[in-house]
Amino acid sequence: MKKVFFKTFGCRTNIYDTQVMMENLTDFEITENEQNADIIVVNSCTVTNGADTGVRSYINHATKEGKKVIVAGCGAISKGESLFNQKKVFGVMGHSEKSQINTLLKQDTPFYQIGDLTSLDETIVHEYTGKTKAFIKIQEGCNFRCSYCIIPYVRGNARSQDEAKIIEQVQKLALNGYGEFVLTGTNIGSYGKDKGSSLGKLVQRLGAIRGVRRIRLGSIEPVQIDDSFREILSEPWLERHLHVALQHTSERMLELMRRRNNVKRDLELFTELSERGFALGTDFITGHPGESEEIWQEAYATLEKFPLTHLHAFTYSKRDGTPSATMKPEVKGDIAKERLKSIEALIESKNIMFREKNNAIPLNVLVEEFKDDHYIGYDQFFNKVIIQSSRDLLKEWVTIEKYEVKQEGNYAHF
Ligand code: SF4
Repeated sequence: MKKVFFKTFGCRTNIYDTQVMMENLTDFEITENEQNADIIVVNSCTVTNGADTGVRSYINHATKEGKKVIVAGCGAISKGESLFNQKKVFGVMGHSEKSQINTLLKQDTPFYQIGDLTSLDETIVHEYTGKTKAFIKIQEGCNFRCSYCIIPYVRGNARSQDEAKIIEQVQKLALNGYGEFVLTGTNIGSYGKDKGSSLGKLVQRLGAIRGVRRIRLGSIEPVQIDDSFREILSEPWLERHLHVALQHTSERMLELMRRRNNVKRDLELFTELSERGFALGTDFITGHPGESEEIWQEAYATLEKFPLTHLHAFTYSKRDGTPSATMKPEVKGDIAKERLKSIEALIESKNIMFREKNNAIPLNVLVEEFKDDHYIGYDQFFNKVIIQSSRDLLKEWVTIEKYEVKQEGNYAHF
């Protein structure tokens, strides 16, 4: 039996997509050992020019090693045709073709099957190789058109997975022992808009499924927090951490970035969520064209007011084909990096303050790995917990009453 290795680049959605491909691969052996593989499926990312370069150099390397390389994922849409024409890859398969992978990989002749950007996966994922929590893709695509982002062009417009299908999927995974569910998608806050439903309504139903202990949500947009979402905020199964994407805290920059959020409303929202006990994370881009020193100073001062605990920040990276790619004036890379470092330090100190302030709250931890004689997991606030124990805690839920707050995480004995 031929051996297939999956190389996944990029985001959580791609982790899920790889799993969908694995579920459909019936006549091959899946290997975790790259060297032993006959075929490598590269589930690629194209979010920045840098991501493209990373994927391209991986493909070149794998081809040189004599592997049969198939490119899937977002890079298949943006770069698949040129890779195929240059004979850099044996096959190209688009997002909608994942369920066809078994047939495609059996082909002896090169293939270019790009599919469409309107369909949704039919496959229900039952197990997650090596993972303690289950990722559920609830929607695909995005209707926003942020000026720096290529994603809507390679994943298409927002479309929601059928609610009954999601429920069936969660029920099956819960029966298989999964207690924590991470809802993912390109823009999950838009869930249900095409079906007369909403993310809040969906999550409410998922929380009621027997065996579901915790639901984590991927990134949501500030404008997507509506009344139905507010209704789930007190539910015990909802993680006490939300990731709400700001991208910037300057009104001018939000305009340039063609965002739908607004600094004043964002601050009110974050204050409200924080007062309800949530740890709050956000996305932020430094160094987007137009971010002058004056704008930056003002944005930094505003960011200081936000009750944030987690940060997923990047320096702006040009993506050809997006409106931002031609905007001027550009910001030098080293300045963007300095700005990034300064906000990372700011949010790190806010995170420590949050943990110290809430030190009396017991932590509910799902232990995900054992490394260097310690068990590691995440609590309800999405903070890392490092546990010493003589018991085998792997994949267990534990409640930690006492712990020491350190920079890299909360330390406990159990
Ligand atoms: S919300 Fe904006 S940044 Fe996020 S995928 Fe959509 S267009 Fe891209």
